[in-house]
Amino acid sequence: MSEKLEFKAELKQLLHLITHSLYSNPEIFLRELISNASDAVNKIKFDSLSREDLLENDKDWKIKLTVNKTANTLTVSDNGIGMTQQEVIDNLGTIARSGTKAFLDAIKAQAADNRPDLIGQFGVGFYSSFMVADKVTVLTRPGGVGTKGTRWESDGQGEFTIEPAEKPRRGTDVTLHLKPECKEYLDEWRIRQIVKKFSDFIEHPIVMDVEKEEKEGEKKIEEETLNSRKAIWLRHKNEVKPEEYSEFYKQMTHDDADPVRVMHYTGEGATEFKALLFIPAHKPMELEWGEPKAGLRLYIQRVLIMERCEQLLPMYLRFVHGVIDSSDLPLNVSREILQHNPQLATIQKSVVKNVLDGLAALKNTEYEKYTAFYRGLGPILKEAFHHDWQNREKVADLLLFESLKTPKGDFTTFSRYVENMPADQKDIYFLIGETREQIEHSPYLEAFKAKNQDVLLLTDPIDEFAIPSLGAYKGKKLQAADRGELDDAKADDKPAEEFKALLDLLKNKLSDEVSDVRLSKRLTDSAACLVADAGAMTAHFERLMQRMGRGGEGAPKRVLELNPMHPAIVALRDLHAKNPDDLRIEGYARLLLDQAAIAEGSKVKDPAAFARRVNELLVKDLA
Ligand code: ADP
Ligand code: MG
Repeated sequence: MSEKLEFKAELKQLLHLITHSLYSNPEIFLRELISNASDAVNKIKFDSLSREDLLENDKDWKIKLTVNKTANTLTVSDNGIGMTQQEVIDNLGTIARSGTKAFLDAIKAQAADNRPDLIGQFGVGFYSSFMVADKVTVLTRPGGVGTKGTRWESDGQGEFTIEPAEKPRRGTDVTLHLKPECKEYLDEWRIRQIVKKFSDFIEHPIVMDVEKEEKEGEKKIEEETLNSRKAIWLRHKNEVKPEEYSEFYKQMTHDDADPVRVMHYTGEGATEFKALLFIPAHKPMELEWGEPKAGLRLYIQRVLIMERCEQLLPMYLRFVHGVIDSSDLPLNVSREILQHNPQLATIQKSVVKNVLDGLAALKNTEYEKYTAFYRGLGPILKEAFHHDWQNREKVADLLLFESLKTPKGDFTTFSRYVENMPADQKDIYFLIGETREQIEHSPYLEAFKAKNQDVLLLTDPIDEFAIPSLGAYKGKKLQAADRGELDDAKADDKPAEEFKALLDLLKNKLSDEVSDVRLSKRLTDSAACLVADAGAMTAHFERLMQRMGRGGEGAPKRVLELNPMHPAIVALRDLHAKNPDDLRIEGYARLLLDQAAIAEGSKVKDPAAFARRVNELLVKDLA
C-alpha cells in the first residue's frame, strides 16, 4: 500500500526553483548522489564496528552506476547504511540540513536570473536530481537481519509516495528517470567524464558495467572502476613521491613543467583542513592573457565544491595552485556563505603564511630556481604592498633588485642593501626606469656614485606604484633618487649665495617649463638635471602616463637642478655677474634644460629650437 505525503513548505519552494529553472551546470547532480552514497558507506563502516550483524557479510564497498537505455534511467547504488521508512520520510521530505536552508535564503535574496547558476554550482544535495530527472525513485533498506525495504518516489512537484518494498541487498538505489533533454547522462563517455571531474578522489570505488570487445565480434560486460581513488592530499607527505606531486600538479594546471615548490600540510586548530599547494617554476600562460583570477580548489571531505575558490587566496598569489580539503565546512555551501565564512579566512591566512615561507625557503636554498621564478612572477608579488599590509615585510624580503653595485643580471635584496649602507646614509635609494641601461647612466646617480652609495635600479612597470606603497623597509625610508631634495648633512651652503642672482633670473625666465631652478647636490659630472618635487610624479611615471595618452599637458612642472661645480654653470654665473641683461643667458639655460631632458630619456619639448641653439654654438666655436 503506497502512501502519499507532501513535502515540507520550504522544500516545495526549493523544488519549484529546481524544476522551473534552466541550469548552467546540471551535471553536478551526479556529484551529489555519489557523495551521499559515499557518506552512507562511511556510516555503515563506522556503525559496524560495534554491530557486525549490520554488515550481512557484505563488505565489498562500492558505488555502482547503472544505465538503462530502454527505460532512460540512471541508477546510483550503494551498499551503505540504507534508511528505514521513517528515515526516508525525514531525510527526503524536508530540508534537514542547515546548509540547504541557508542556501535557500541566499538564493531568495538573489536576482531571479542568477538563481540557476547558484543552484548549478553548489547543488542542493539529493534534490539536485530534479535538475535532470522528471521522476526519482529511491529503493533502500538498512542493514541487519529482518529489516524492511522502502520505496520512495516523486516527480518533484510537491508530493512523494512511500511504500514497503523488497530489497535483497542492504543499501540504497537512487534511480533517475531522465528528462528527454537529459539523455546525455546515459552516455558512458559522459558519465566517465563527470566522475573524473568531480569525484575522482572519492575513496570508495565508483564502478560501472562497460562492454569490452576482447576478440573480434566477442563482446563481454566488465565492471570498471571509474575513479582513481587517490586523494593525494590526504596521504602522508612521506608517502608521496615527488613524481606523484608533479603529475597531479600538471593534471590540475596543464602546465608542462614541474612545480618549483610543493607545500603539503595539515591545518589544525580552530578549523581542520589539508592543504596541498604548488608554486610554478615560471609565469603560467593563464597569467599572460585574460582576466586575472586567483583561487584554490576547494574540497569538502573529498567532494569537489569549487574549481577556484577565490576566498582561499589573495590576488597577489594568483600564480599558486592547489587543493584545500576541509572537514568542517558544510557540503552545500553557497557562494554567499563562502564569502563571509570565517573558516575560509583562517585557511587563507594559513595558505599565505605557508606560501611566503615556502618562497623564502626557496630563495635561501635554491637561489637559481628562485631567480627564475622571480623574473616572471616577482612583479605580481609586489601587489602585496597595496593589498596585504600585514605581510608587507615578509614580501619585501622576497624582492630582488639590480642596483648600481650589482653586475648586470645579478640581484641584491633590501637586507643586503641595508647591511652595506655607509654609516652616514639614512635612506634606501632607488631609481625607476624602463631598462637598466637607460637608468644606469642617468645624471641622477652621479652623486651617489661619488659617495659610494648604492641605488636600486627598478624596471618593473609596477614599481612606480608598489615601491611608494611599501614606503619603508625596516624603518629605512625608500627615497627616489630623482625626486625631492637630497638630504645631505655635509652640504656646503657657500655656493648658494654666489648663484642666488642667476637662479632668481632663470626661475623667472624658465617659469613656463619648470617650477623651480636650484643648485644640485646629486650631480658631479653633468651640468644639469630635472627632478620631480617630493610629492610629484617622477620622469618615468610621467612618460608612462604620456604613453597611455594621459598626463603631458597636465603633468606638474619639474625642478631644474644645476651643478655649481660644472664649468658651464660657473661660466653662466660669471656671464650673469658681468651683465644680467645678456640675452645669451636664457638661450644657454634652455639648452641646459633640453640636455637634462635628453639625459633622463625624455623628449625635448621643441626639438627645432634645440637644434638651432646647438648650431649657433657650433658656428660661434668654428668661426
Ligand atoms: P546531505 O547529504 O548534505 O545530508 P542530501 O540532500 O544530499 O543532504 O541528503 C539528505 C539526507 O538523505 C542525507 O543526510 C542522508 O541522511 C539521506 N540520504 C541521501 N542519500 C542517501 C544514501 N544513498 N544512503 C543513505 N542515506 C541517504
Ligand atoms: Mg548529500
